[in-house]
Amino acid sequence: MSDFNSLPLQATGKPPYLLTPGPITTTDTVKAAMLRDWGSWDGDFRQMTRQLCDQLLDVANAKESHVCVPVQGSGTFAVEATLGTLVPKEGKVLILMNGAYGKRLVQTLDYLGRDYVTLDKGDYLPPMPDEVESILRADAEITHVAVIHCETSSGILNPVPEIAEVVVRLGRRLIIDSMSAFGAIPVDAQRLPFDALISSANKCFEGVPGFGFSLIRRSALEQSKGNAHSLSLDLYEQWAYLEKTGQWRFTPPTHVVAAFLQAMKEHAEEGGVAGRLARYSRNQLRLVAGMKALGFRTLLNEKWLSPIIVTFLSPQHDNFDFNTFYDRIKAKGFVIYPGKLTVVDSFRLGCIGQLYDEQIDQVLVAIKAVLAEMQIESGHAELPEENAVTAA
Ligand SMILES: *Cc1c(COP(=O)(O)O)cnc(C)c1O
Repeated sequence: MSDFNSLPLQATGKPPYLLTPGPITTTDTVKAAMLRDWGSWDGDFRQMTRQLCDQLLDVANAKESHVCVPVQGSGTFAVEATLGTLVPKEGKVLILMNGAYGKRLVQTLDYLGRDYVTLDKGDYLPPMPDEVESILRADAEITHVAVIHCETSSGILNPVPEIAEVVVRLGRRLIIDSMSAFGAIPVDAQRLPFDALISSANKCFEGVPGFGFSLIRRSALEQSKGNAHSLSLDLYEQWAYLEKTGQWRFTPPTHVVAAFLQAMKEHAEEGGVAGRLARYSRNQLRLVAGMKALGFRTLLNEKWLSPIIVTFLSPQHDNFDFNTFYDRIKAKGFVIYPGKLTVVDSFRLGCIGQLYDEQIDQVLVAIKAVLAEMQIESGHAELPEENAVTAA
């Protein structure tokens, strides 16, 4: 059996940087925070959980109106738990889809047996507020609208504040999957009227994977007792137990929470959401400029590019093969991410995690060298005309 810790390191002398949307590259100090054990019942850990929730509510300016409910598992567990807890059995959800994570919401509601309709914009067009408005006006049964903040499959940043305005004006409730956005894209619960905003430990807060959390409007959660389809994913019960005992209902990921508190400290030291947004935006601009210089083009119009992750079209060259491209870049110290689109071949480069100018420049050097090794002169690709992103 292989000892994964002794796998050969890359030429840089370090494990490869992850240019992926989570797990991401974390600091050594975040990793070091996991080098001790905590009892889940112990007062110290209960204190850590309280601190975690307070700090997350602060980041969203949500303390007045919302509560934070953490849940074990990856981000998808938190999304499923939130939908199952907040959408009553007779509820109906409008799902705004423009990629893989929107599709996952559909799949989740299928499992939950909750009624829904969709607005499907395909792979990379944003759902627009006027479209949401006409669907809601035509269907009084819709109780909730679910939207993806940054649709990580294309990297598009959806117009969530504008959509929220419509949803609330028409008296419906908003659930935001902000998995890959919260922590780097500003959220102010007093201005963005959501019932729930969901995220996880291992994206823009730069913790390690192991739990997700939902910031839920207190009044909505209070009304949700008995809705959940699942024992372990019942966020009402998770919250009630936390309130009563200070503990998670079932074994919490203690080390992951400890690492997350360190990650939150480093997030604050970097200047909070504004600081992180500044670094990720800088990464994105540097990356896109460098890739364009190599002939690559982005899937999206500049206008919709997020500072989280960028989709590039695969070079239209006979010598291009994604797996070879991937392996060769990995050998130079960077793990990239395959595309997730149905219509065009693409790959993605993440801007989040412990990445700075130096790493962006190094990955560009690596990609340039790999193109040369593969005898591809340019990263050029054409987007078929009918797929061009021309939304206003
Ligand atoms: C990462 C992500 C998720 C959750 O994915 P997991 O693999 O379960 O952590 C959900 N929605 C979006 C938009 C994401 O980026």
